[in-house]
Amino acid sequence: MRPKGGSETVVISSRIGLGTWSIGGLMWGGTDRADAVKTIRAAVERGITLIDTAPVYGFGTAEELVGRALAEHGAREHVVIATKAGLRWRAGSVYRDGSPARIRAEVEDSLRRLRTDYIDIYQVHWPDPRVPVEKTAAAMYTLYERGTIRAIGVSNFSPLEIERFRSVAPVHVLQSPYNLFERGIEHDVLPYAERHGLPVFAYGALCRGLLSGRMRPDTKFTGDDLRQSDPKFQPRRYGQYLRAVAALDRFAHEAYGKTVLALALRWILDQGISSALWGARTPEQLAPIGDIVGWRLGPEARKTIDGILKDIITDPVGPEFMAPPARDRQKVAS
Ligand code: NAP
Repeated sequence: MRPKGGSETVVISSRIGLGTWSIGGLMWGGTDRADAVKTIRAAVERGITLIDTAPVYGFGTAEELVGRALAEHGAREHVVIATKAGLRWRAGSVYRDGSPARIRAEVEDSLRRLRTDYIDIYQVHWPDPRVPVEKTAAAMYTLYERGTIRAIGVSNFSPLEIERFRSVAPVHVLQSPYNLFERGIEHDVLPYAERHGLPVFAYGALCRGLLSGRMRPDTKFTGDDLRQSDPKFQPRRYGQYLRAVAALDRFAHEAYGKTVLALALRWILDQGISSALWGARTPEQLAPIGDIVGWRLGPEARKTIDGILKDIITDPVGPEFMAPPARDRQKVAS
């Protein structure tokens, strides 16, 4: 039995993290590599010291672009790189693989793509129902003891899965979906994190762009953009979410002179979340970062926001559509 500690490693990073899923291009209608590198550099220049990425984002593309941007900028030492393991892809399909062999292979690929010899935070991307959590944890612990990774995270884990993981290895960071429209973790992961003093990274901070304020009823997504099948972006529901965004934007302007984008990010931080992961593809998208700091949402404002959401979104839906499948039994055997 190993210690359950979550505190022997201290993770210090900015409260806004750059998310790089869309920079990877896959499931986001492609990417512009030059813009991606400029965005990563702009993030660092604007004081963002946390970059969240994963091998599966563009099947290596996002990690490569992060590695390139940080190397060209000489910024590696100033940035906390949070990457992940535990997903596999074959013939364009993604599925879960938390086997020790997969973790050992992935870390080497990530180090090479990121042009670094250590990973600040290594996160298990999704729990794998075909591999006991304890086995995945033991593989992560070996990397941690070696110093290849400096902190361990788990993403999309339930409190029970986190407990099992922590019976074998420490967990330093949790990563879960969380934004104004997707609040499922308030019932389980957030109370657990609070009880155990664990930092939480909130992903999908802008609900895949819905909370940016840019979306219109006739906004079109092209290529393989996942928003073509995201249930929030489908007729009827999309209208509800757009009306909620408009009402939140009015509230943000009237009460604070801010936009809905700033409100959405500020709200996450004022819920006690350690860092909000903001997926941006261009330096311009990061420009409003200054609007997020220097003010707070009090309890009254949060109550007003809850009222707006309850009145307008009568048919809410969560982010479950994004969960990758487990491997089928045949693939496990191979
Ligand atoms: P997000 O941050 O909610 O939204 C990203 C999208 O918002 C961008 O692609 C862009 O859309 C739009 N956007 C951003 N800034 C904008 C601005 N100023 N104006 C207009 N539009 C703007 O979604 P996300 O990228 O899914 O989540 C953030 C990060 O969390 C990811 O990049 C990834 O690092 C992490 N994540 C982790 C998991 C996990 O399983 N652990 C799952 C999902 C995400 P356009 O493409 O339309 O320009």
